[in-house]
Amino acid sequence: MRCRRCREAAVIELRQHNAAFCASCFLRHCREQVRRAIEQFSMLASSDRVLVAVSGGKDSLGLWDILLDLGYPSEGLYVGLGIGDGTAEGEPGSGYSRSSGAAARAFAAARGVRLVEIDLPGDYGFDVPTGAAAARRAPCSACGLSKRHLFNQAALDGRYDVVATGHNLDDEAAVLFGNTLRWNTEYLGRQLPVLPGGDGFVKKVKPLVRLGERELAAYCVLRGIDYIVEECPMAAGNRHLGYKEALNAIEERSPGAKHAFYFEFLARASTLFRPLAVAEHEGGLARCASCGSPTTGEVCAFCSLVARATDPDRLAAVSVGLGRTRRGGRRGVPGGAAGSAPGGASVAG
Ligand code: SF4
Repeated sequence: MRCRRCREAAVIELRQHNAAFCASCFLRHCREQVRRAIEQFSMLASSDRVLVAVSGGKDSLGLWDILLDLGYPSEGLYVGLGIGDGTAEGEPGSGYSRSSGAAARAFAAARGVRLVEIDLPGDYGFDVPTGAAAARRAPCSACGLSKRHLFNQAALDGRYDVVATGHNLDDEAAVLFGNTLRWNTEYLGRQLPVLPGGDGFVKKVKPLVRLGERELAAYCVLRGIDYIVEECPMAAGNRHLGYKEALNAIEERSPGAKHAFYFEFLARASTLFRPLAVAEHEGGLARCASCGSPTTGEVCAFCSLVARATDPDRLAAVSVGLGRTRRGGRRGVPGGAAGSAPGGASVAG
């Protein structure tokens, strides 16, 4: 197998491109895909200050690395979620957030770039598993809501122009698949690689939409980026993972199917759903009485979550539930969100 560009020995085959690449041409290919996505969807201007949301995983660290190499002045934002911090050593998911934070910090130190940190337990008084149970929300739903709010707030506070997230082609195709299966038309109207800013929202972009998970993993390995390989323990049994598996089976038989599904949707169908997404906010947005963020109600969803997730009565009920679990009863803390997409990739996109 020879590299398509230079005819050296290839290290990776990409069936969707009907091509194979050597290490150096593959890294060039990844950067080129990100550059093309940025240009195709007018994601970034060269002077934009970019805040990259990093989780310590391959996608976000790979994205940060590529943006730096492409010359965009980028800083990172890591949100500590407190996942697995209370889990006994040796148990699945033990120390998940500690390890992911360490990977993000190590990358920032190695590249000499700034990492902004927010700690959900330390700064807001709850971790995702306990807070979600107290608020009676699925963990991925509470987590996604928290991250969307905190990314936006951190970008406003730090006067960044854009927030960039590591959603890749597999993520976007899986979210599209889930929304199409249920014809969630408002969500389909908002599933775009760029969400414009304004009215209290900072512009959000997804520069990895032309690259798949396998390409990102290979990119990080070849670049020597030490990312957290372990999946978040909260994702177990998640519908989103099921959609990814289904799409992988289709891709196996029909290379390029994921790319066609997502990009043909953007080219031919997404505008048809756009008016439905716009109609949702037609009444305009108010300001949260607690934090000042844009909201459709009196208090924004995040402040309402914080209030419920830190309510002493609710927390006491959760610890009773956990005690019952330890004695062999019903699970007190749900292990996965049936209808939410992990990684903050909400079905709303
Ligand atoms: Fe949050 Fe992703 Fe874990 Fe769900 S899978 S809890 S969204 S980090």
